[in-house]
Amino acid sequence: MIKAAKLYVVVPCYNESEVLAETSKRLCQLFEELYADKKISSDSKIIFVDDGSKDQTWQLINQEHNAKKWVNGIKLSKNQGHQNALLAGLLTVKDECDCTISIDADLQDDLDAIKEMLDKYLNGTDIVYGVRKKRSTDTFFKRTTALAFYKFMKILGVNCVYNHADYRLMSKRALDALSEFKEKNLFLRGMVPLVGFKSDCVYYDRNERFAGTSKYPFKKMLSFAFDGITSFSITPIRLITFLGTATCLISGVI
Ligand code: UDP
Ligand code: MG
Repeated sequence: MIKAAKLYVVVPCYNESEVLAETSKRLCQLFEELYADKKISSDSKIIFVDDGSKDQTWQLINQEHNAKKWVNGIKLSKNQGHQNALLAGLLTVKDECDCTISIDADLQDDLDAIKEMLDKYLNGTDIVYGVRKKRSTDTFFKRTTALAFYKFMKILGVNCVYNHADYRLMSKRALDALSEFKEKNLFLRGMVPLVGFKSDCVYYDRNERFAGTSKYPFKKMLSFAFDGITSFSITPIRLITFLGTATCLISGVI
């Protein structure tokens, strides 16, 4: 018989007081089901990472922790950004668990995919990517820019899973390998495929945000895309070198 996994679900939260109670309720329900099905152990946890929120998020995490045995929290010293908050959470818990699942706090990602991810893990897969079936809930702008970005990254030779963001399962040994990276400008969806090990995908429908507004304004999205490009490809540097040399030569001739 397959042994139940000690699962830690890591949820980065920035000013998520409008969704936190509901997210905690639904994740706890899911944990009860998974525990009853003997897929997770009784010491599994849901870890909310408060990324320097300015609203009641941390107080709510405390309330949830006091009320529910599955819930725990980590509070960062200030707002560090989604990718840093997520990695901080994952690296803090990696030695405590068998595997982690990272998920956003706003219930956009279908929680049912967690069951499938876990089944794949229990059958020997180290990394399971949550992949969106379609992008119909996105605005036209987000859909088009996201598609252009993935295509551009592919041209640059960066290996990203198309339509996958940061909803994924990782085993402890995959996290150990990820922790070896010394990268500062994080683009986790580009880094994780470099880790190797057996990986697979589960497909799900992405919903609208349950409540509140996006914490990824256009400026943050742009800087995230820039980190993705500059941290993973030397093509931009090569291009600049080529342009510089060509300009220099042409100027000399003229
Ligand atoms: N988030 C965070 N720190 C930030 C910005 C966002 O921890 O500085 C969290 C946020 O609370 C959410 C996740 O990252 O759980 C994704 O953010 P959001 O849902 O606002 O992004 P979108 O879905 O609009 O791209
Ligand atoms: Mg969201």
